[in-house]
Amino acid sequence: MAITREPKEGDQVKYFTNRFLSKRGEKGYTPGAFAKIWVFEGESVANVKYKCPYCLKDGDIQQEWSRPFKFSCGNCGKVIKIPKLKK
Ligand SMILES: [Zn+2]
Repeated sequence: MAITREPKEGDQVKYFTNRFLSKRGEKGYTPGAFAKIWVFEGESVANVKYKCPYCLKDGDIQQEWSRPFKFSCGNCGKVIKIPKLKK
C-alpha cells in the first residue's frame, strides 16, 4: 500500500531527486538500491520511494523534509542517509 502521493500532471514539485544508495561504509553503490524523493510545492513533507541497500526491500514513506535527509527503512529499520542534497 503506497502512502506516497505520485506527482500528477499539473502538480508543482519544488524538489525532486532520484539517487543510487550504498550501505554505510560501502564503496560504490548497492546494485538496485535507490531512493526517489520529491516534495510538492507548498508542502513540507517529502515523499520517498526506495529500495533499501541493506535488505533490498521496496518501501515508501512520507516524512518531514529536511536537509540533510535521512530515513529509516520500514522493513529492517536501518537508517538510510541521502548524501549531499543540493539546493
Ligand atoms: Zn531495509
